[in-house]
Amino acid sequence: MLTPEEVERYERQIMIEGFGEEGQEKLKQAKVFIAGAGGLGSPVSIYLMAAGVGTMRIADHDRVELSNLNRQTLHWDEDIGKRKVDSALEKLKRLNKEVKIEATEETISEANVSQLVAGFDLIVDATDNLPTRYILNKTALEKDIPFFHGAVYGFEGRAMTIIPSQTACLKCLYHGVLPREKFPVLGATPAVIACIQATEVIKYIVGIGELLTNRLLVFDGLDMKFTELKVKKDPNCEHCSHLARKE
Ligand SMILES: [Zn+2]
Repeated sequence: MLTPEEVERYERQIMIEGFGEEGQEKLKQAKVFIAGAGGLGSPVSIYLMAAGVGTMRIADHDRVELSNLNRQTLHWDEDIGKRKVDSALEKLKRLNKEVKIEATEETISEANVSQLVAGFDLIVDATDNLPTRYILNKTALEKDIPFFHGAVYGFEGRAMTIIPSQTACLKCLYHGVLPREKFPVLGATPAVIACIQATEVIKYIVGIGELLTNRLLVFDGLDMKFTELKVKKDPNCEHCSHLARKE
């Protein structure tokens, strides 16, 4: 049950058709794992926190650097040198006292990923490299957890929603292995993509709208265009082809 204070806090989204107190209650029960507390992780966690997702866990292994501050909006000048998880937690706790949030300083790997996502209903990809994305994709598929992909480069961003055993996965979309590298990013780009991811997460939990499945949304901030590319489930995909198909 929602408290009178929660009904007031979330009034403007509860008013949305199809959302209601029932939708808000679903958000309150949801447990979302966010991989990364950087450029994507900052806005995605802020908006999910503000919307009242009941339980969240953020994983990140980095410390705040000066060159992060153009885009990683949870981290401020005073946080340089701090662990990102501490800096993120400190801000997020002040945003919404109704949400249970924890942060863990871990580098996501094959060895710890199962433990990191255990007990969580959704996984948000707020990472910055393909090897970690593949680990998350594989784990999400194996554990039947919806996975919300986002990625940015410069003025460009991409997003796609993956529902295990139903839709194309990240490995159906990408094949190569790109090395980890420092790449250009304008801070507003991850904000656009993270807000798309947060919208998808909320829609999935509440059960409204059409999800961004089997299609990759590509944002080009320089020409200010959104393009949609169809993504087909690859029958030979090494991550998802062995899973029994559910419709
Ligand atoms: Zn696949």
